[in-house]
Amino acid sequence: MADKKNRKNNRNNRNDYDDDFNPRLRKQRKKACPLCSDANFVLDYKNFDIMKKFVNDKGKILPRRTTGACAKHQRDITLAVKRARQIAVLPYTQE
Ligand SMILES: [Zn+2]
Repeated sequence: MADKKNRKNNRNNRNDYDDDFNPRLRKQRKKACPLCSDANFVLDYKNFDIMKKFVNDKGKILPRRTTGACAKHQRDITLAVKRARQIAVLPYTQE
């Protein structure tokens, strides 16, 4: 009963409003961490093909919301990217 009453009083609840067109209500599929989901995945900082996935075209490290990595593995990725830069596998900057 209380639930029904709240719905009636809620000004934001409009039945004709389609959730798919509202970006705030759109359901996002949670990205799985690339390192957690694949047990065989080795974050090899000497391998350019693996490391390039975690930097953008300017050479910056991608944020977690883009990589989908968990906090623990994002720290590992950051460390690996920094190591890769030092041995010139990845660039520090790119024009
Ligand atoms: Zn993870």
